[in-house]
Amino acid sequence: MYTSRLYVISAPSGTGKTTIRREIEKLSVGVKYSISCTTRKPRIGEKEGIDYFFISEAEFESRVRKGQFLEWAVVFGNYYGTDKLYVEKLMSEGHDVVLDIDVKGASQVKARVRDVITIFILPPSMEVLRERLAGRKTESEEALNSRLDEAKKEIMLAAWYDYIVVNDVLEEAVQNIVSIFRATRCKRENSLRLLDRFPGY
Ligand code: 5GP
Repeated sequence: MYTSRLYVISAPSGTGKTTIRREIEKLSVGVKYSISCTTRKPRIGEKEGIDYFFISEAEFESRVRKGQFLEWAVVFGNYYGTDKLYVEKLMSEGHDVVLDIDVKGASQVKARVRDVITIFILPPSMEVLRERLAGRKTESEEALNSRLDEAKKEIMLAAWYDYIVVNDVLEEAVQNIVSIFRATRCKRENSLRLLDRFPGY
């Protein structure tokens, strides 16, 4: 009944974007996350077609040449891209679609999709971000510093997004994002079709 909308959510590594995604998916608010293609190797527990479509570099490059990606970028040394047809199919089925992508991909989508809605998730502070990344204990000091440097560069671009959500208390961040989805649905231009129910309108 509502016009489907495309959202982009970007956040520096360690901001809690994946946890937020899981919470939003649990709430079933009518939005679908697009599943990206990547050349990164699956992490333990990640599943093909659920977390990502894991493809080879040759396959990725061939899809780039064929223009099959709505956007793509190299992030931390691996290719990531959003399949255009996949997103179009979800939207044609009436879903709002969320692209969980980095700032480089976000700027490509902004250039190509006029009415995309962009959301940036901020950590409460750089100190908290450092603590969260260090808490993962999966990375060397060098890798940690490189993620923090990258995060600083990304945060410099936050002002360019339509909405900024701070992930301090998880539930609040999730509710704020869901509120953005709900308010957007209620906008006149996305709800006009509801008037079809009223004869003679
Ligand atoms: P990870 O490998 O940790 O899942 O993701 C690393 C980064 O790549 C995250 O910032 C994530 O948002 C970004 N990313 C995931 N999928 C895509 C995509 O399709 N396109 C772009 N540009 N970035 C993506």
